[in-house]
Amino acid sequence: MQETATQEKFGWWRRIALWQKILAGLALGVLAGALLGETASVFKPLGDIFINAIMMLIVPLVFSTLVVGITSMRDPQKMGRIGARTIILYLVTTAFAISIGLVLSTLLQPGVGVGLSFDAEVSANEAPSLMSILINLVPRNPIDALANGNIMQIIVFAIGLGISLTLIGEKGEPVMKVFDSFAEAMYKLTGLVMAFAPFGVFGLIAHVSGQYGLEILLPLAKLIGVVYLASILHVLVIYSGFISLMGRLNPVRYLKGSLDAIVVAFSSASSAGTLPVSIRCAQKNLGVSEGVSGFVLPVGATINMDGTALYQGVVVLFIAQMTGTDLSMMDYGMIVATGTLASIGTAGVPGAGLIMLSIVMAQIGLPLEAIAVVAGIDRILDMARTSVNVAGDLMVTTLVGKSEGELNEEIYNTSRS
Ligand code: ASP
Repeated sequence: MQETATQEKFGWWRRIALWQKILAGLALGVLAGALLGETASVFKPLGDIFINAIMMLIVPLVFSTLVVGITSMRDPQKMGRIGARTIILYLVTTAFAISIGLVLSTLLQPGVGVGLSFDAEVSANEAPSLMSILINLVPRNPIDALANGNIMQIIVFAIGLGISLTLIGEKGEPVMKVFDSFAEAMYKLTGLVMAFAPFGVFGLIAHVSGQYGLEILLPLAKLIGVVYLASILHVLVIYSGFISLMGRLNPVRYLKGSLDAIVVAFSSASSAGTLPVSIRCAQKNLGVSEGVSGFVLPVGATINMDGTALYQGVVVLFIAQMTGTDLSMMDYGMIVATGTLASIGTAGVPGAGLIMLSIVMAQIGLPLEAIAVVAGIDRILDMARTSVNVAGDLMVTTLVGKSEGELNEEIYNTSRS
């Protein structure tokens, strides 16, 4: 009785689609920040609670989804194909992204005439060797990998466990059932956490927008404009193009279905943190199977950073223009190559791309101290690049799902999002 009364009381709230509520949270957050300035940080705990809650989901959700996905696929060849397609698509889209960044900043010249001084000490990062990355994919201790949230190691262990459960046949069934039910519970919990997303997004954005006044943003307005323009073009032209030409799917549905994840990525600046939301969007809104979304998305959140690559292209040219450095065709090639590698090595956490920038800068001999100029507004750029990173993961997931017959087009075309 009481329950129905409460349900009725909040009926109007329930009738609003989640993406609309999240967007409203975003808009109100910007407003609160603009009106209250730094005082808007009082709302930050709302955002922190939300981020903690989605981070809490990552490890159990990825692990259980992947084990369930692998056991339901039952075909090692198919898994190999999915892996190969995923990696190729991730690399191709990243190369597109960095090229868009380079073309736009060559055309729009955001660094010309910017006279900012820099004197902070920044040292170049050592990029880990390819061999050590490969060796470390295999966890020595899976519990340790789970405890530390090492996504790639968790993926490797989950694939091994999933295959073994399939191979032992009947004996594997009880464990499969446990994982199946555990994964369901994790989906439910993600749904419950997402109900809080509009408030979390509000808190995060109010804090950010209250911190950055025009006096900080204006000198770098052109740089910000180019990064945002390149990001929007990349999503609207390249991703939508891939979805319609390669996937033969309606790109508007892809964009709408990915919106929750894009907004959470924008406000949290963490693609790893957004992972539970991306998995939910892929399955619930875009109709991608557990097997494909459970594999392609965690891999993407770890290695596919199109927005970061694009940002590196723009910022490196910006600094070259600002310091009056002429770049040769070789340098451009170098930026594409090192930018792609640096983006792969970038962790899906706030600010990681800024640190990796030094690798690209060092390669072409630009002064590393110039990074300090961008550091002050990096959060604003991070929000855009993380949104692209997540949108890219969802695009590739949709395409791989479609090509493997693991995409339910009815859900894709009709979900309410
Ligand atoms: N914050 C980005 C992400 O989580 C990484 C970056 O800083 O470029 O995807």
